[in-house]
Amino acid sequence: MRYLETKEETVALLKLVVAAMGQHDAALNPLSFAVFYEHLARINRRLSQAFDAAMRDTPRLSDAMVQRLYSDFVADVGVNEAQRIQADMQRVMTDIVQSAQRTGAQAGVFGEQLADLSGALDGDATQLAPHLDAAREGTQTLRRSVQDLQDRVATSQREIETLRADLLRTREESMLDPLTRVLNRRGFDHQLDAMLAEAPAKGATHCLIMLDIDHFKRVNDTHGHPVGDKVLQGLGAVLRSVPAEPGMACARYGGEEFAVLLPSTTLNRAVQLAETIRTRTHGLRVRSRTAQGSDLTVTLSAGVAAWHPGEDADELIACADAALYRSKSSGRDRVMVA
Ligand code: GH3
Ligand code: MG
Ligand code: MG
Repeated sequence: MRYLETKEETVALLKLVVAAMGQHDAALNPLSFAVFYEHLARINRRLSQAFDAAMRDTPRLSDAMVQRLYSDFVADVGVNEAQRIQADMQRVMTDIVQSAQRTGAQAGVFGEQLADLSGALDGDATQLAPHLDAAREGTQTLRRSVQDLQDRVATSQREIETLRADLLRTREESMLDPLTRVLNRRGFDHQLDAMLAEAPAKGATHCLIMLDIDHFKRVNDTHGHPVGDKVLQGLGAVLRSVPAEPGMACARYGGEEFAVLLPSTTLNRAVQLAETIRTRTHGLRVRSRTAQGSDLTVTLSAGVAAWHPGEDADELIACADAALYRSKSSGRDRVMVA
């Protein structure tokens, strides 16, 4: 059960939630209610962190922002799709079981026919013919029934394969940011936990690169939000284009912030990669109608941190963030190391 608050607690929360929702631009629907509720009840730590970060960027949260918080931190992984797959799986299993039961029943009938035949063999030989006919027919029916069962098992195996692929795809899609086609925050959290669960190889370390587009608010203000979105898509493409290191994962961490996870690498390699991303971002050209025919260019700042034994996910993020902050404060468009 996700919510354990008592009626009295929820009454108090309801008032807080309604008051808080009034301070934002997002519509007051059940989805945004869930986001505000879980945030104010302090029962979803990662949601609250992202919520606070989003508020620092934009004090009045929009529909799009609240929807992203919902899908990244509140929604269960593709609930509808998972239910559909589960129901299909159940149907496939029921089909096989029924078919096996029919074959079993058929085998029972055939067994009785054989017993009859064996009884008849002990008695009057002239009375054998009808028993032989029944046994022959029984053999054929049983053969058809077994064939039917085999066909059904083969079909079911194919269906189960498809369902398994569906399940994998749903799971992967629930971790992807639809705009940039890199991992979303849920995917990032998942990969970061996975990275820290494994010790780095000898002589290597885990690294995290945090990236933030420079003066992105200005891009939106000057060229409009849709052009801002195109810049984000472009950066997604840059991240997908950099040479993949083993286990590397790129994610959209928040609005215009991205992150790269590099398990078992070296700090030097991570810095090199951050530089590659930074220079490739220079090469990004985004068309803007307001830019009088010239294409828009963007830069980004990066902070790189190496993981130290004993450090948890939040501490590693804080280190990379601090380095990113130094990149910003010392002039932007650069890579700094924690
Ligand atoms: P800095 O160089 O210090 O990072 O400045 P900045 O303007 O990039 O940073 P700031 O945090 O002030 O602004 C980030 C902006 O990103 C504000 C927000 O509206 C915008 N943003 C967040 N998500 C999206 C999105 O999905 N699409 C668009 N177009 N803009 C977004
Ligand atoms: Mg920025
Ligand atoms: Mg930012």
